[in-house]
Amino acid sequence: MSFRRSRRLLGFAVSAALASSSALAAQRVATQAASEAATPHAFQTPRSAAAIAAQCRTLLADLNKAEAQLARGGEAPGTSLLAALDAMTRRTEDTMGPLGVLVAVSPRKAIRDAAEACDRDYQAYSSRFWQNAAVYARIKQVRPADDIDRRYWRDTIDNFEDAGVALAPAQQRRVRELNDELIALTQIFERRIREDRTRLWFTRDELAGVPTGVFENSPRDPQGRYRLGLEEATVFPVLESASVPATRERLWRAYLSLGGVANLETLAALTQRRRELAQVFGEASYADFVLRHRMAHSETEVQHFLATVKEAVRAREMADLEVLRVEKARHLHQPLDQTVLARWDTAFYSERVRRATYAVDQEQFRRYFLPEASLRFVFRVAERLFGITVAPAAAPQTLWHPEARAYAVTDNDSKALLGTLFVDLYPRADKFNHAALWSFRNVSTLAGRQPAAALVVNPSRQGLTLDELQTLLHEFGHGLHALLSKTRYAGQGGTHVQLDFVEAPSQMLEDWVYDPQVLALFAEVCPSCEIVPTPLLAQARSSREFGKGMQFSRQHLYASYDLALHGREPPDPLLLWAKMESATPLGHVPQSMFPAGFEHIAGGYAAGYYGYLWGLVLAEDLRTAFAADRLSPAVGRRYRETVLESGGQVAPAELMQRFLGRPADSRAFFEALSQ
Ligand SMILES: [Zn+2]
Repeated sequence: MSFRRSRRLLGFAVSAALASSSALAAQRVATQAASEAATPHAFQTPRSAAAIAAQCRTLLADLNKAEAQLARGGEAPGTSLLAALDAMTRRTEDTMGPLGVLVAVSPRKAIRDAAEACDRDYQAYSSRFWQNAAVYARIKQVRPADDIDRRYWRDTIDNFEDAGVALAPAQQRRVRELNDELIALTQIFERRIREDRTRLWFTRDELAGVPTGVFENSPRDPQGRYRLGLEEATVFPVLESASVPATRERLWRAYLSLGGVANLETLAALTQRRRELAQVFGEASYADFVLRHRMAHSETEVQHFLATVKEAVRAREMADLEVLRVEKARHLHQPLDQTVLARWDTAFYSERVRRATYAVDQEQFRRYFLPEASLRFVFRVAERLFGITVAPAAAPQTLWHPEARAYAVTDNDSKALLGTLFVDLYPRADKFNHAALWSFRNVSTLAGRQPAAALVVNPSRQGLTLDELQTLLHEFGHGLHALLSKTRYAGQGGTHVQLDFVEAPSQMLEDWVYDPQVLALFAEVCPSCEIVPTPLLAQARSSREFGKGMQFSRQHLYASYDLALHGREPPDPLLLWAKMESATPLGHVPQSMFPAGFEHIAGGYAAGYYGYLWGLVLAEDLRTAFAADRLSPAVGRRYRETVLESGGQVAPAELMQRFLGRPADSRAFFEALSQ
């Protein structure tokens, strides 16, 4: 899920990129279209913090100059205003794109810090730009030539208006203040979680059942107790495997207090500021304010969708919980009617049921999915489906780390270079430690510009689990969306689609790793690799189905809470949560404060958490076209041409219609849920 969405920049994406295509002024773009090809060797990592600061100053000078030209109508004859605006987006991508990647992967702190400083300067510029009334007035007068221009023009107008360009000066100032405060409050909320220093001590006996790898390197006190923190890599394995209930309860309670009362207050402040922001624009709630520009359109539509999901999983959730309760009674040798399931029991008994019923241990998969072979495997899936070739880029490169590399993606029919994929495959100190994709440079057919993206993952060198292979394919899926796109404007390239559509293409592909016919591609890319046994795969598939009632109910609760929190009446965050969680089968545990650690809604997913479930509905519908053959080149080609190539220049519902030959619907999703 951790797609790195480029921040909205001059409308659309900050991207960045290959530093050699420097400072293309708007008026040159139309005439020198071929000048923006992505040369794979051109990712020149800045040598020093001073070099980054200099790049940053040049960027801001170029943007100020271009802005002044836009305001007074100074673009070159024959260049449209929209093209001139998109040239500013591309200019920004050229500098900010690589810097965004380097913040996450550069081994040098000075480089990372300088890149962050540049980002702050750029953000300050950006919020002023979107309130430029002279530029806005000129863009308002544009008469779009066709549907693509119309959508880009509409998105641009929305960006200006959501930044407050049409408001009175005092309100404009208030919008800038509110946005600054929101950024600061979000940083405080996230920092409290990141810098949490809660430590708990456990004896060896209290850790019975926990894999020793989780705690054996932890510090010990004179009594021999182990010190554990609240990192996910510690908390989740302990909750899944500690057989002593008091151990699970103590750790669960600490984890569900992360962020503390201070973060509840910060969350309340965030929601109040968001509500005020919405009201400045005449909207009754923040949910109304943001959903206007989403695929879902309105809070009513999202509420209706969530209610339907809830109805579909209600019975399944109760059945899942009953299976766990029976397992608990058996495990503790106690009568079922005296057995009550606690919140800290669900992960533990789910794992017991999975192991007992399906005999699946994810560790078993690593020997089949070695890292280099896994990377070539996901490439091969795309090659087969989309008629492309992914091969090491020929040119020598100077990248941020000796293990980072570049791949050229070419079209099999035309042999043309489509774009460049950078890959940083292995874990190391100070590197971003999840899996993500930066689509840092976007295509523009108008400018002859080729896209580039960076795939950053961290698998063990011993190999991947099946879950990790699924994640690799998911993130690479975002890369395909970026690299196979053929949009007129960079601001609408690839992943620059509406937030509640962006996950769907990657979520669709997740299913592919459970198909033996797809996994057979390993034999093509790694003849010496062992092929994963089909029964093991089938067990993993069944195991994945167990617990979906509980998972979807939880997702439903998070999404409903997020919407209610950003609704018309700003509630107390904890009171609202306690009320909503109390209405679930396992109830609310007094003193627990889940919202204090709910980073999604403190950050970019406010009034957007529903997008996770929404994207799954779209993904399931997209999959119906591949039901007969997940590797069908014909269907893959149609998908590439209708969905991936269009990026954000066509509305998602229209893309779905063009690909499926009918309007998108939720039947496949609900059928899968009821199986
Ligand atoms: Zn994702």
